[in-house]
Amino acid sequence: MRASSPIEGVYLHVPFCDGKCGYCAFYSLSGRTGDIDDYLDALELELEAESRLHCYRRRTAGSKSALARLGAGRPRPVDAVGDCGTSSMQAAVSPQVPLAPRTLYMGGGTPTILTVRQLARLCAIPARHLDLRRLKEWTVEANPGTLDAERLAVLKAAGVNRISLGVQSLDDAVLARLGRRHTAAQAREACALIRAAGFRNWSLDLIGCVPGVMARQWAETVRAAVALGPPHMSVYALTSEEGSRLAGQIAAGDAALLDEEGQLACLHTAEQLLRASGLRRYEISNYARPGFECRHNVSCWRGESYLGVGCAAASHANHSRWTNAPDLDAYLQAARAGSMPPREVERLTPETEAVERLIFGLRMAEGVEPAGILAALDARNASLPIGVGRRRPRRAVTGTQQARRGEDAVALPGGSMEQSALGTHWATTFARLRREGLVRTLGGRRVLTARGRDLADTVAVELMP
Ligand code: SF4
Repeated sequence: MRASSPIEGVYLHVPFCDGKCGYCAFYSLSGRTGDIDDYLDALELELEAESRLHCYRRRTAGSKSALARLGAGRPRPVDAVGDCGTSSMQAAVSPQVPLAPRTLYMGGGTPTILTVRQLARLCAIPARHLDLRRLKEWTVEANPGTLDAERLAVLKAAGVNRISLGVQSLDDAVLARLGRRHTAAQAREACALIRAAGFRNWSLDLIGCVPGVMARQWAETVRAAVALGPPHMSVYALTSEEGSRLAGQIAAGDAALLDEEGQLACLHTAEQLLRASGLRRYEISNYARPGFECRHNVSCWRGESYLGVGCAAASHANHSRWTNAPDLDAYLQAARAGSMPPREVERLTPETEAVERLIFGLRMAEGVEPAGILAALDARNASLPIGVGRRRPRRAVTGTQQARRGEDAVALPGGSMEQSALGTHWATTFARLRREGLVRTLGGRRVLTARGRDLADTVAVELMP
């Protein structure tokens, strides 16, 4: 699987916000800004420790580690804290290869809630522990009302080259209903500031499918957003996320979501207007002018390795996924003790990784190549001892079966007609999805049709073994 490759993306999580949006179930905290400086210390400790675990980069004599600055001991190797597979990651990555990501992403939370001084501190951390010579994209998330020219100047000077702005709506009544803490005027001003600061690459998020918003009103919002000139936009449907205020209101019968028909109508309106303005839908929820797709997210969707640092941050590398506990106090305490943060670790079986790679890939306009995924699965299975998540023996596929499947067959490279059980399931399912008009075939790739995009979650379930 791709996730055994060196880390391509690094994500730094900033879990502080100036309030809580009604729909939000992310780990974000308001009223804890007094902890930000300690948090930046802890974040640097974790990145420093991870950079050592992932690359063995030599530090110059006399360079003072973040741990030493805190007066704490050095962090234990991750595998001493829990079996996250990181020790084997050391073996998988050549000591000569430094942790040199192609993308950096600072998200939250609201990174721009930091003071100018804190934001400068945050932006200085990566260069101390990563080799940034390969870096192509550095994104920082921001919210209107927390972004000003001074902060943008700090970001620009640090090398940030992409801003992702959480606008969500350009209608004050809708913003209030969503529990946002900014106005449409502040959102417009933030866009103007981003452009004035010289950022060519920036994105604007919108939330659609808000009950009570008329079709005409939603279309006006999308048109107004397009008029602000972002080369990238994300459009999400309002959903009920477990743990959010909205989910509680829905459970109590005090709120409801749009029905499926209403949601699709809303998303179709957005797609038509964005496409007409030159923004291409390159992923189910993401649109961009050519060349402005979010490289960080595309890399994750392609199954490439990424490292997440910070409270509640998730990582995927070396066939494992680990997520730091969503607990700021525990995160700070671990740093003070010189330990890695508490985290949950999941060792991914070859089949799990193959299915995830297929499903995430299908969400993109470029689609996926099942044969490539199966070949990687085969290679990984071959390297595993029997009984360690190893696949069932492959079943031969007869010529008649292959002919019947036609272009839906997912033959392995080299012209082999032999396929895994998973490959057989995919071939059968793709054949049916194609007949139902949900998937089409482009060479060896499978791509969702417009109707398939509407039913992407159903398609995903169908393709699971
Ligand atoms: S700004 Fe983002 S992270 Fe913060 S509460 Fe709202 S949705 Fe959640």
